[in-house]
Amino acid sequence: MMERERLYRTEALILHRTEFGEADRLLHVFTPHLGRLRLLAKGVRKVSSRKAGHVELFTHVNLLVARGSTLDIVSQAEVLEPFRQLHEDLERASMAYYVGELVIRFTEEQDANAPLFYLTRSTFERLCTARDPLLALRFFELHALGLTGYRPQLYFCVACQKRLELVPSYFSPSMGGVLCPRHKGQVESMAPLTLPAFKVLRYMQTEPWEQVATLRLSAQIHLELESHLRDFIVHVLERQLKSVEFIRRLRREQWVNAFEHRS
Ligand SMILES: [Zn+2]
Repeated sequence: MMERERLYRTEALILHRTEFGEADRLLHVFTPHLGRLRLLAKGVRKVSSRKAGHVELFTHVNLLVARGSTLDIVSQAEVLEPFRQLHEDLERASMAYYVGELVIRFTEEQDANAPLFYLTRSTFERLCTARDPLLALRFFELHALGLTGYRPQLYFCVACQKRLELVPSYFSPSMGGVLCPRHKGQVESMAPLTLPAFKVLRYMQTEPWEQVATLRLSAQIHLELESHLRDFIVHVLERQLKSVEFIRRLRREQWVNAFEHRS
């Protein structure tokens, strides 16, 4: 009986990996019912290790874990889905890395959030297959915000609470969403929200991914959406007074530009 209690089984997504000592690795994994965990994978850097291929970054795995005094230890790993494209395409890989980082920043250890787990797994899948992976990234950001208690308000003005009309408006991360046009200049941090971007935000918040995936967005709309959601995320993280380095990096990086320059 004691033996059984020392082990537990869970499915998990591998979000982050760091070297730990001579041959071990520290894994940040996200599970549906145990939340985010830090686990030790012993000896996985040895070429001969049979577990080596089973704890690759971004994979969806089934784990058998042994409770340890400080860190729990991966005892067995079985791959459920390797998400191979995330390893073969550098841009998709960096997007998956960003998704993993957001999950780490938005969740506390051992704080279960099953819907966020399934959203993350679906997002890894979409980053592999979507015609427009940037759209999958924006969809993830918007819904991850919602699932962690920061759903942007897109239907009622965050200043006067009146029902919003579909017209060019303003977006304010510090107020939590969209403001009607008559508040122009009244709030410190508000950015113009164009009508097409407003419509896409609402569409992404209410429609399933299968519908959203059919949208074809211009680079300009992509840039605007990225900027609004990025500002929103930075605001949320700043309020939590953590992730300073991550926020700095967010401010430096722009996916759309990277894509434009390449093509
Ligand atoms: Zn208003």
